[in-house]
Amino acid sequence: MKPLAFQIRPQTLDEFIGQKHLVGEHKPLREAIENKHLFSFLLWGPPGVGKTTLAEIYAKAFDANFHMLSAVSAGKDDIRKIVGHADDSDKPTILFLDEIHRFNKAQQDFLLPYVESGKLTLIGATTENPSFEVISALLSRCRVFVLYEHSPEEMAQIIERTSIDMDQEAKDWLISMANGDARQAITLIEIANNIYKKITVETLKESLQSKFLRYDKKGEEHYNTISAFIKSMRASNTDAALYYLARMIDSGEDPKFIARRMIIFASEDIGMAQPLALLVANQVFDAVTKVGLPECQYNLAHGVVFLCQTKKDRTAGDAYFAALEDVKKFGNLPIPMNIRNAPTKLMKDLGYGKGYEAYSKESLLPGKLKNKRYYKKAD
Ligand code: ADP
Repeated sequence: MKPLAFQIRPQTLDEFIGQKHLVGEHKPLREAIENKHLFSFLLWGPPGVGKTTLAEIYAKAFDANFHMLSAVSAGKDDIRKIVGHADDSDKPTILFLDEIHRFNKAQQDFLLPYVESGKLTLIGATTENPSFEVISALLSRCRVFVLYEHSPEEMAQIIERTSIDMDQEAKDWLISMANGDARQAITLIEIANNIYKKITVETLKESLQSKFLRYDKKGEEHYNTISAFIKSMRASNTDAALYYLARMIDSGEDPKFIARRMIIFASEDIGMAQPLALLVANQVFDAVTKVGLPECQYNLAHGVVFLCQTKKDRTAGDAYFAALEDVKKFGNLPIPMNIRNAPTKLMKDLGYGKGYEAYSKESLLPGKLKNKRYYKKAD
């Protein structure tokens, strides 16, 4: 039997929930579907918001030869095959390419002539910003539509679509757990419904655990390895960091994911001890993007050794988060008059900007926090 998320996938726009900026009255995708405008486009948005669903509804409107591939596992050969079939058909051929950002430049280039000639109508889905992840030649041939995570109200409607009974508390818990990802919520309901008589917050929590045990071995390994990698760099343990880097690459981890974590690390863990680290990490990301696998392993190794061998200092981030804690704790405290903006006479008369001195040594924090010190320079 097909998974529940699949069974209840909307077949028409009327069943489709949310994303009104795309499928509402007179909005671009509704217009395209209703008026049968065939063109290539990209859908950019987080998981479980309806990208695949929309692509299917679109393809159905054209009675098209619809193919689905994932850029994680597909390659040029798969595309060649699809285009080959297109020659024998008078229906349009639509290719839904999930995670298109996982195609490297050469693979994306390969799509170009087919998209340009209209032999293939491409619907690419991506969770990553296409302006960085999709080559510009392809971008200029595709419209880009942005999808947003489902709001709590939309999630409630999607949960309703499962027609499975549960109390309000269970619904609320699901909505807050799923972070706007419909697939996540539906899958959890399905597991709980298969195992337990009644769906409650408790049985959902139990199911969440078993879900990870059953389906997410790979996911767990992924988080363990990246965590070990970061902790090794933090401890300046170059051998361990290189080892975990190698494990991630060998298991097929996206090198850009690793480089992105290195950029965060450069500010979070090295910070003021060596501001250059942020530049180096950014350059590693840039190099990885331009070079790709396998050669970008040199760029990654180079950057990792640099980050390991550099002094560490977390004072900037620590100070910022201490300040953020006060912001949350005290709300909008009044800003001292002398550093307020005074664009009008009335505001000046009220004392805004009065006594302002550019190089004042006085505290510029709100009165209540006057003596607070967040930033402690490392020794
Ligand atoms: P994505 O491709 O964005 O990861 P999908 O389109 O595959 O997400 O959605 C996963 C499942 O969640 C679908 O099978 C459907 O059951 C449900 N779903 C997602 N978005 C919607 C929506 N907008 N309206 C109704 N159901 C949805």
